[in-house]
Amino acid sequence: MARDGRGVTAQSEDFAAWYNELVVKAGLVDRGPAKGTMVIRPYGYRLWERLQAELDRRIKDTGHENAYFPLLIPESHLHREAEHVEGFSPELAVVTHAGGKELEEPLVVRPTSETIIGEMMAKWITSHRDLPLLLNQWANVVRWELRPRMFLRTTEFLWQEGHTAHADEADARRETMLALGIYQEVARDLAAIPVVAGEKTPGERFAGAVSTFTIEGMMRDGRALQAGTSHYLGVNFAKAFGIRYTGETGREEFCHTTSWGMTTRMIGAIAMTHGDDQGLVFPPRLAPYQVVVVPITRGGDTAVEEAAGDLARRLRAAGVRTHVDDRPQLSPGFKYHEWELRGVPVRLELGPRDLAAETAMLAKRLGDEGKQAVPLDSLPEVMPGILTEFQAFLLARATEFRDSHTVEAATWPDFADAVSTGWARALHCGTRACEEDIKSLTAAGPRCVPLDGEAAHGPCVRCGASSAYGKQVLFGRAY
Ligand code: AMP
Repeated sequence: MARDGRGVTAQSEDFAAWYNELVVKAGLVDRGPAKGTMVIRPYGYRLWERLQAELDRRIKDTGHENAYFPLLIPESHLHREAEHVEGFSPELAVVTHAGGKELEEPLVVRPTSETIIGEMMAKWITSHRDLPLLLNQWANVVRWELRPRMFLRTTEFLWQEGHTAHADEADARRETMLALGIYQEVARDLAAIPVVAGEKTPGERFAGAVSTFTIEGMMRDGRALQAGTSHYLGVNFAKAFGIRYTGETGREEFCHTTSWGMTTRMIGAIAMTHGDDQGLVFPPRLAPYQVVVVPITRGGDTAVEEAAGDLARRLRAAGVRTHVDDRPQLSPGFKYHEWELRGVPVRLELGPRDLAAETAMLAKRLGDEGKQAVPLDSLPEVMPGILTEFQAFLLARATEFRDSHTVEAATWPDFADAVSTGWARALHCGTRACEEDIKSLTAAGPRCVPLDGEAAHGPCVRCGASSAYGKQVLFGRAY
């Protein structure tokens, strides 16, 4: 297997091996002792904290409040919504013993919190004046995944879960789309992932939902990754938990509820959208470090070290997240490679000759401009613009990649060809049997019915029956 000097398989050679090795080698994550669990290391956690801060701000700016609900849920709670328990049963971890005794009622480790939050909503909502109730929780959840992958699908993951209750369907549906819009914006503007927003087909809906909406990103191997979901739950959970309110006319009504989540999977999405043979490429708006300064000193050149520290202070004062790699025992070349692998957008090299010329050598993680000498004085002023440009470049590159790997397929051969390397937009009859047929032949499934799709009708690309949904469906192989 072709490996570069640092022992990471080339992306072009084996995408899965590249990803699995890279996230560990770059210091984002390590395997936990229990199967399917992960340890998020400080460098990975910094990225999560950046995403969390940005998402949390948007969630609060739109009127939601954070709260915290228990990790352990009585098993009977899950049984109250029939579809919900059926969907989640295979993935549940259940506590049967505690305090040295068998429990009278087993406790489920939350896989998601609709049930426990539903119970509390029923208690807290009595009148139309209590609505809408707009809650969010930051938490860990456990789903027993059979094919775990770091960040993408772990048995325990971190997320936020929004849970809201509304007086009517229209308000709840507005909320569902509001959350989806936040996810789309976070993915596009922060992670530089040009996601497609759409509705899931019935077979792919969340267990217990009336409608599920998703954002789907294309990874650099052409596969889709669901990067966030927003569900309109109708009155299903309201009926199961008795979430009712008295309307203005005095009539008692069920609330319409929603839920929506984005997880640590986003870290994997960023790695697989922008990374290359050299390693990770982090979008500046989320990068743990936007700039790394590497002082080039032989045997403790204090003038260079001081200048590097001073440069970093001035960059930080200009709002640039800057790290100085002053580890004495490592060569500059080793450090350059390591920060390339770890995806830092901009590297500044500062040696005695640069210092004498009052410049630093600037190298971007991507682009063919090579290194440039930039006056030290000007760096704090020009760096924000350089980072903005880099961010825009990543989004444009990912958009170009997605669009050049998406085909409007009117015939079955075109469809099969398209989903072997990317996505197909095609008319589909909407039946589960036909979805399964397509999946067995191509490994591709319906990702969503894109919201921005134009009205279209005609024969199903696979079976020729009349198309459903009134639009094309986006198909692709997925993670
Ligand atoms: P759900 O509550 O099933 O709608 O899941 C919300 C979001 O969590 C999905 O859109 C996925 O992006 C993500 N997700 C689902 N399962 C996992 C997992 N095992 N690890 C990480 N993220 C996940």
